[in-house]
Amino acid sequence: MTTGRQLRLYNSLGRRMMDFVPSADVVGVYSCGPTVYSFPHLGNMRPYVFADTLRRALRWQGIPARHVVNITDVGHAVADSDTGEDKLEVAAARERRSVEEIAAFYTQAFFDDMTALNVLPADEYPRASEYVPQMIEFAARLEELGYTYLLPSGLYFDTSKSPGYGTLALLDLAGQREGARVEHVEGRKNKSDFALWRSEEPGVRRVMRWDSPWGWGAPGWHLECSVMSMSLLGAHFDIHTGGVDHRELHHVNEIAQSEAYLGDGRPWVRFWLHNEFLLLNNAKIAKSSGPVPRLADLTEAGYHPMAYRLFLLGGHYRSQLDFTTHAVDAAQATLRRLAGRVVALRPLPAAGSFAAARALLPPDDKAAAAYLDQLDAAIAADLATPKILAGLQESLRDADITTEGLGVVVAAADALLGLGLATLDPREIDRRRSLTDLDPAEIETIERLVADRTQARKEKDWARADEIRTALETLGVQVTDTPSGPTWDLC
Ligand SMILES: [Zn+2]
Repeated sequence: MTTGRQLRLYNSLGRRMMDFVPSADVVGVYSCGPTVYSFPHLGNMRPYVFADTLRRALRWQGIPARHVVNITDVGHAVADSDTGEDKLEVAAARERRSVEEIAAFYTQAFFDDMTALNVLPADEYPRASEYVPQMIEFAARLEELGYTYLLPSGLYFDTSKSPGYGTLALLDLAGQREGARVEHVEGRKNKSDFALWRSEEPGVRRVMRWDSPWGWGAPGWHLECSVMSMSLLGAHFDIHTGGVDHRELHHVNEIAQSEAYLGDGRPWVRFWLHNEFLLLNNAKIAKSSGPVPRLADLTEAGYHPMAYRLFLLGGHYRSQLDFTTHAVDAAQATLRRLAGRVVALRPLPAAGSFAAARALLPPDDKAAAAYLDQLDAAIAADLATPKILAGLQESLRDADITTEGLGVVVAAADALLGLGLATLDPREIDRRRSLTDLDPAEIETIERLVADRTQARKEKDWARADEIRTALETLGVQVTDTPSGPTWDLC
């Protein structure tokens, strides 16, 4: 066995764990991307770090994938509603810039954050504004098939004509049709019906507008993902990802219109994967520029972007995660410790797949083989990143592993976690601190720990000495033993 274990993923469609077996030579993966009207905040990063883990898992198993992330630069109305202003146009008015400038600026801000978080680039980043003719064709086909009706506010999809409507969200169709939706749309037949095309209100000229069989207007938000994914990945593909909020409405509507359009009786997409929310209730980050902190706020406060990535990976993607300064401090300390230990193992070998890692293992290193197996089991079990982290940390403490074997395990774990351990400079991690920043009490604590460690070494209590070294590393302190005694510095 060289490809690793059978990958199992939790499919929101049916709400169960399933064996993932690709249906094509190249697995199509589509992730709902950002609406580029403001800076993405920390919570917005989670879906992409999660999708990145999925891609690393596929690579680990030697499964080629093609990943598409859309950029929503038109069509997303404020409050995710069917009527009302476009988010991009509101932002343009607010910032006195053109919608094109707004889209370009915030798209770049998104890419910058992705790069800082070491998220593998997608194969394609289609812009919604570049696919409007195809969206019009798609909606026209649905109209031809009898799935739509026209109102003054736009062309609507009739969800009562979609037999499986709401399966993904476990919606009771009758309940959803009568259910409370915030928005009242005059003439809408069912409350779950949604706009495929949003017509201009009389006397209100949109900035971004296209002519269509239903008059001047703009596409509905849900339409773009169906059209762009099919156009770039084929009519059917294997995996669609997004935040759990999309599971209730956006993805439900994507499925309804896509399956109506295809009309082949097959599920449009086989696997629907959703990450849980990031909670920000307890976040207290200095210099936060808005109500919800951004990655830039974290880095300005002295945290390394990889500390945030490590914090995210420390929770399973299907668990809610509470962002607190305590949690990100702990992640920063862990990152510092990891980087400090890994320096001696460099250069790390290229162990991006299970097969590659297996081939690199020293033949007699049973401990390394066991850790590799542990990593493989964790990633195959619905991308259990906390277990991968735990395995990595355990292996670094293990006395029975060879240095060469440890290098392979670390490289393999990092190929899955994407923390950049092969090159991360421990001195770069804690940008907040230099020696002059330390207050006398901190220096006293460090001096005392260093003295305790020296004493432990004199007594040949190696376990205690190591424990103290770890405690010092957590504080960002590196001890070096010299002939004239130990010295220390911030690492
Ligand atoms: Zn989408």
